[in-house]
Amino acid sequence: MPSVTKVEIYKLNIARQTQFRIAIGVFEEVQNILVRIHATDGLYGLGEGAPLPFLCGETQAIAFEACKELATLLVGKDPYAIEARMQELGSCLVHNTTARSAFDMALYDLLGKRAGLPLYALLGGEKRALTTDETIGIDTPEAMAKEALEARERGFAAIKVKLGTGFPDDVDRIRAIRDAVGPETLLRIDANQGWDPVTAERILQELARFDIQYCEEPVAHWNNEALRRVREQSPIPIMADESLFDHHDAFRLASMGACDYFNIKLAKSGGIHTALKISAVAEAAGIQCMVGCMSETRLGLTAAAHLVSARPNIVFADLDSAFGKADVVQGGIRYDGGTITLPDNPGHGADIKPEVLESLKSCTVT
Ligand code: MG
Repeated sequence: MPSVTKVEIYKLNIARQTQFRIAIGVFEEVQNILVRIHATDGLYGLGEGAPLPFLCGETQAIAFEACKELATLLVGKDPYAIEARMQELGSCLVHNTTARSAFDMALYDLLGKRAGLPLYALLGGEKRALTTDETIGIDTPEAMAKEALEARERGFAAIKVKLGTGFPDDVDRIRAIRDAVGPETLLRIDANQGWDPVTAERILQELARFDIQYCEEPVAHWNNEALRRVREQSPIPIMADESLFDHHDAFRLASMGACDYFNIKLAKSGGIHTALKISAVAEAAGIQCMVGCMSETRLGLTAAAHLVSARPNIVFADLDSAFGKADVVQGGIRYDGGTITLPDNPGHGADIKPEVLESLKSCTVT
């Protein structure tokens, strides 16, 4: 039986060209973690975690320390028994989903390499044509309209707009954007919990005339009952994001009728193995899903894109966090406007450029 020989953990920092603001925080420098798991069969798997403190409760420093703890649980064990390994990691360190997602991604990469299959095929899926939106951060209506128009001209058929500061600013933003991009472009919005329930109901009524595809997380993440009431009144479909981490959340939200769609993110679910369980709950409940992102490089985004390709009920992708930053990844997905092409090499098919990896602060657990 192959076993894990060592785990390398890295801090990956990348400057952003511009600040990116959402209702609950501002994205500064990218501060991610990488986990590279080596096995006795000579293979390694690589995973990325993108900690967002205001969403998952992990900073890069917290995730780095968490990874050291998790690595000690893995060394000497069979890396190909993913369900057993992820159960161990999850029961020894609850929450810390971003750190666990990096391990999960590395384990699936390793299993794909061992099987000689690209990750989408390993997950039982087929290669599908994928498209992502591009996301516009909170700014003045004029600046956001200009950015949306530029995104449309770069080939994005769908634009996701960050809102959540309230009435009338959010309505002004969408009016300006819809005027700029015309009727053909798909517009999705994300309030990131920024509205109270009364404001949410009022704004969603106002925004319906601008033809909005769906709205993510209109109210506080803990307030599932308010989410259900907002959905009942809303002319725009509601997507759960911050209120949905794992399959237990998915089951509760589906049972309550609190949302129309799920937004799955690997950093919230703790990786692919729980994301698959969310997808299964969604399928049972007749709910379609999106896969979204935090601040992953093309490496984490590649793993997420394989998941989208593998599951027919994941019908939307919001996999744009690598835009506007230096590209440290070799292999992996390719973008042509909003169109994503998956690689066919075994595992997720992405790696960090060796010269970048060598320069990172790291530690090794053996
Ligand atoms: Mg969201």
